[in-house]
Amino acid sequence: MLAYIGLGSNLNNPKQQIKDALIALNTTADVQVVGLSSLYQSKPIDGSEQPDYINAVCQVDTHLTALELLYVCQNIETKQHRVREKKWGARTIDLDIILYGVQVVASKQLIIPHPEMMNRAFVLVPLSELESDLKVPVLGPLQALIDQIDISGLIKL
Ligand code: ATP
Ligand code: CA
Ligand code: CA
Repeated sequence: MLAYIGLGSNLNNPKQQIKDALIALNTTADVQVVGLSSLYQSKPIDGSEQPDYINAVCQVDTHLTALELLYVCQNIETKQHRVREKKWGARTIDLDIILYGVQVVASKQLIIPHPEMMNRAFVLVPLSELESDLKVPVLGPLQALIDQIDISGLIKL
């Protein structure tokens, strides 16, 4: 199964945090990182006073289920000392499953496609670097989603 994972960080050397998370993903049994976007910089989505975010999207090839992949992501977050404070607060690392093949998931723990992806330039733009003609389950063509949002605040590094 090919899945896309969004990575984000705005604390303790964000670029290194993203690199470390990619290494951790790639060294997980049954998970291979097969694609990586550029890094992007953007302002916090809630407009609060916290450092800018660095984001990227990677493509992984995996035999894990979507839920197993979520647990892998959460373990990596914990290992990189993510502290869960308020929603959308500053964090060392955040790993979100954006897509899991064409699978649609709507459970208490896991929603795929990621429920905010269509609103987020820092997800859609790096995703389009990896697969520009992607058709997103439920939501439609990726390019049409990008055309509907403001991407001017996103800085490609
Ligand atoms: P957002 O979800 O808006 O990006 P966030 O990443 O800060 O916010 P978290 O605190 O990291 O939110 O996650 C809250 C919960 O979201 C997790 O415990 C997880 O169970 C759930 N969740 C639902 N769908 C997904 C998904 N596709 N990827 C990652 N987590 C998800
Ligand atoms: Ca997130
Ligand atoms: Ca998250």
